[in-house]
Amino acid sequence: MRVLIDQDKCCGAGSCVLSAPEVFDQREEDGIVLLLDAEPPAALHEAVHEAAAICPAAAITVEQSERV
Ligand code: SF4
Repeated sequence: MRVLIDQDKCCGAGSCVLSAPEVFDQREEDGIVLLLDAEPPAALHEAVHEAAAICPAAAITVEQSERV
């Protein structure tokens, strides 16, 4: 899995950080998303999918690779 974020779309809602704090963080100054782990381990995939699904700005993209 590869995770991509679009900081221009992010509105700083922070839902992704609540879903997967190991993968997403927020900038202190404006709350814009930061990507901590672009290739998270399998144990975190479900949380990352959930984060992408609930992001109100659709700023998170998940690409599936052959090796999970
Ligand atoms: S859930 Fe979406 S809009 Fe909210 S901080 Fe995360 S990436 Fe940004």
